[in-house]
Amino acid sequence: MARKRKKTFPCGHKGYGQICHRCAEEAKLKERAQEVKAQKKQAKQVWKKTFESDPIDLTGLMPNLVVKARNIIHSLHDGQDYRDFGGKRLNYDRQVISIPLNRDYRMICHDIDGKPTPKSVVSHEEYNRTKPGA
Ligand SMILES: [Zn+2]
Repeated sequence: MARKRKKTFPCGHKGYGQICHRCAEEAKLKERAQEVKAQKKQAKQVWKKTFESDPIDLTGLMPNLVVKARNIIHSLHDGQDYRDFGGKRLNYDRQVISIPLNRDYRMICHDIDGKPTPKSVVSHEEYNRTKPGA
């Protein structure tokens, strides 16, 4: 058997065999990266679409807060008590219920016929600005 001899491929790399394994490997990685990119893009579109069924605007929130907000929305809808989520009625307007999502955001609900109805998600700053005398 003849000894394998290294040859130079048209791409400039050196190696054995019919094709350059280095370039083949790179092409494979590139293809995989493109697949991952396409999957990410699709996931992003799917995620974007989920906002269409939200009763209030949750776009612009961190994904974990979006999930939490949706959880609360659904639970309230199913009749769970807003106090289970740390919600409180505002002193100056008992019809308004504020439910904390985290330190920075809270969900504002209006009591409509005894049912807390989500109206918006506001940041701590926005929330303070809506307070009388703030
Ligand atoms: Zn090559």
